[in-house]
Amino acid sequence: MLKTLSVIVPCFNEEAVIQEFYKRTSQVLTSMKGVESYIIFINDGSRDNTGLILDSIATGDKRARVIHFSRNFGHQAAVTAGLNSCKTDFAVIIDADLQDPPELIPQLLETQGREQASVVYCVRKERKGETAFKKWTAKTFYKTMNRMSEVEFPLDTGDFRLIDRKAIDAFNKLSEKGKYIRGLITWIGFKQVPFYYDRDARFAGETKYPLKKMMSFARKALLYFSKKPLLISISLGSPACVIGLVYALWAWLGHFFGFANTITGWTSTVILIIFFGGVQLLTIGVLGQYIGVLFDEVKNRPEYIIDRKINFERVCQKPQNMKDRSF
Ligand code: UDP
Ligand code: MG
Repeated sequence: MLKTLSVIVPCFNEEAVIQEFYKRTSQVLTSMKGVESYIIFINDGSRDNTGLILDSIATGDKRARVIHFSRNFGHQAAVTAGLNSCKTDFAVIIDADLQDPPELIPQLLETQGREQASVVYCVRKERKGETAFKKWTAKTFYKTMNRMSEVEFPLDTGDFRLIDRKAIDAFNKLSEKGKYIRGLITWIGFKQVPFYYDRDARFAGETKYPLKKMMSFARKALLYFSKKPLLISISLGSPACVIGLVYALWAWLGHFFGFANTITGWTSTVILIIFFGGVQLLTIGVLGQYIGVLFDEVKNRPEYIIDRKINFERVCQKPQNMKDRSF
């Protein structure tokens, strides 16, 4: 039976790699027999020639589809748009920079068929061309996430994965706006199996995740997947209360029995003010982060705005027992 597959590619200022990505991916897709495949490029408000290059690719190849965003909405919004608009049996999420080799797509599909899994997530055995700092921060991040969150995340995985229709439909039903996709796909469940691979270095161009963006990504993931930071107030506040009570008792009794020199207690007063002030600011800060998330969610703005779509209009011959589906 003919399978259908979409390859979802978020692109932000990727003019240096797009052509090569397209060349390698379309070769792979053409070589896959019994699979009708598409590439969905999401141009995430690129400021270089990425948009023009994508348009020209789409003109020459109807399998290539393009979604142009009205501005840069971020990597996760771009992948979400791809998943929202793909109607195929399977989707593969992959970066445009060829760090994740498109040549692995047939093996992902084969693993899916063999294991009857809904999700085949790719685990990086090696991460070439990445600094020791990036590797260390990534490792620390995933370990912290696992300790903090209710969901067990597989270590060393990115968004590179294959997901089937069941998982795509479940994902598309999630209404939260701040999406941490790899976390959400783990969260939805179904059978998920790993696929181990060596991650290459970026083909060309620079990472679009400088430290600041990486930190904000990690912060968002943590806020959306864990309530544990809120426990900071309890874990700091409780011993602080006990210390405060003991100290108050000591000062009070000392006043009557003359063993606590309460007049010359400047140092202890300052220490207490600084300590409690710090605890309060910290806990208000943590609360503020969650209120910020609530604020963003309550506004209910769309995750992305599409400027235009290319090559989405073609409607496939529908199999008899199937509803209308524009692939
Ligand atoms: N990307 C995007 N929007 C952004 C940032 C990144 O669509 O605002 C895309 C980017 O073009 C690439 C993928 O997300 O296809 C991953 O980015 P990158 O390779 O720079 O991240 P890294 O691998 O360095 O973590
Ligand atoms: Mg990359």
